[in-house]
Amino acid sequence: MTTNCDIIVIGAGPGGYETAARAAACGLDTVIVERDLPGGTCLNRGCIPTKALCRSAEVAMTVKDAFDYGVSTGGFTLDYAAACARRDAVVGELRQGVVTLLEGVRTVRGEARFIGERTVAVGDEVFTAPKVIIATGSCPAPLRAEGSGLAVDSDRLLAMDRLPAEITVVGGGVIGMEFASIFAAFGCNVSVLEYCQEILPPFDREIAKRLRMAMKRRGVDVTVQASVSRISVTDEGRRVVEYTCKGKDKTIVTDMVVAAVGRRPVLPQGLELAGVELTEKGFIKVDGSMITSAPGVYAIGDVNGLCMLAHAASAQGRVALGERVNLDIIPSAVFTVPECAMVGMTEQQCAEAGTDYVAATATFRSNGKAMATGDAEGLVMVILNRADRRIIGCHICGQHASDLIQEVAVAMAAGMDSSRFAEVVHGHPTLSECVASAMEKADEAARKS
Ligand code: FAD
Ligand code: NAD
Repeated sequence: MTTNCDIIVIGAGPGGYETAARAAACGLDTVIVERDLPGGTCLNRGCIPTKALCRSAEVAMTVKDAFDYGVSTGGFTLDYAAACARRDAVVGELRQGVVTLLEGVRTVRGEARFIGERTVAVGDEVFTAPKVIIATGSCPAPLRAEGSGLAVDSDRLLAMDRLPAEITVVGGGVIGMEFASIFAAFGCNVSVLEYCQEILPPFDREIAKRLRMAMKRRGVDVTVQASVSRISVTDEGRRVVEYTCKGKDKTIVTDMVVAAVGRRPVLPQGLELAGVELTEKGFIKVDGSMITSAPGVYAIGDVNGLCMLAHAASAQGRVALGERVNLDIIPSAVFTVPECAMVGMTEQQCAEAGTDYVAATATFRSNGKAMATGDAEGLVMVILNRADRRIIGCHICGQHASDLIQEVAVAMAAGMDSSRFAEVVHGHPTLSECVASAMEKADEAARKS
């Protein structure tokens, strides 16, 4: 028997569950299909569990330095298993929230596959609708090196509640650096091997370099331009990582290798029967409205590869429902200690695009709040279009960067220039004064040139 409905959503990650809940709230007869736990990668194996561990890492570092603040703790122990138990409790509570959010949606448990145009089967059940939204997400990409099976990916890592003494992370991207930051706070000896010239390739070079230097001061050994060729195991069960760096062959012997080298799309079966085409990289091809090559079929979130972030997945879902959303300005952050965040263009992108820009920075060291908190590592960089002083980028390395960036995202979405931004009074003492200060310096530089 075939069930007709208004909309079918495949996958209950942040793309799928938010979109299904919104569709149902608009009165649409909505079906969501999920083969695993509600919440997707973000809630179960991504954003939330890692951010819970990032918080434990921050607390560990604060307690370690407590004496400097006039607080005597009388000694402390680091308990990664307890941090994982807290992580799991946070995830469990939020998962219940997703179940509640989906109360107005018909939820079907199982693997969805296309059996025709806008027609989806789950086991023996068949569903058809004028609109189908694919939100099946992504999974870890394999490390292309001999013996890569000896490395663990982020999914396996998040299922563990113990850490060995020495860890090598292959990939200095977002996942690799967040885990390196957590491991270091829990007392592990950490090394990172990154293929590119700098860690965090999409971030501004200045910010990425600052993070690399900050991690180095915390004892993390970061090697860039490193290409891993082989992983093997010793008689004692340790891992041997062979790599080349600037033409020289090198080796690291470690207890665990973590592979964090990107993610690849998870595709439902039968896409060819639905008429859905893929890009050269194997993601689902969509236009600006998130429509695939098949009429009535949309693809949102990681599976289309446009922007692999949870909030981008939800925002694209709103676009698929016909809402007006500005997908050009999407802030992103790395939850390391210190944090990094960005919105808009980097200096490197401006240079490549031939954009005439000015950039200016303000350091946290000249900010009262940052000094009072005892954590004045970092800076804010603002980039303006030189001719009209429109804000085209902001890059932050430092505490609370992930929250600070949002103000600039709003200013950019409103099309503000630096003089309009200067009209806004910033509270004192707050870290946001550092953003205002960088903006003022950029404004002056643009006016003088
Ligand atoms: P997903 O969250 O992957 O959900 C897809 C769902 O579809 C899954 O539940 C899956 O089981 C289901 N599914 C797949 N195929 C089928 C099928 N055939 N039938 C039924 N169900 C199916 N992003 C951020 O913005 N901030 C962060 O701090 C952050 N941290 C991260 C940390 C880690 C370690 C990782 C791995 C990712 C992180 N991300 C973060 C990225 C974020 O998790 C993803 O961008 C986001 O989850 C994508 O959402 P989605 O809805 O597209 O897919
Ligand atoms: P990524 O693309 O950010 O980083 C992968 C890194 O691995 C790159 O720097 C790449 O140069 C390097 N690399 C690839 N192959 C290598 C090799 N053989 N040897 C050494 N280095 C190699 O991917 P990721 O860190 O796996 O994260 C995947 C996605 O998840 C990202 O697109 C990101 O948007 C999302 N994510 C976001 C957050 C966040 O928003 N805070 C956190 C985690 C993940």
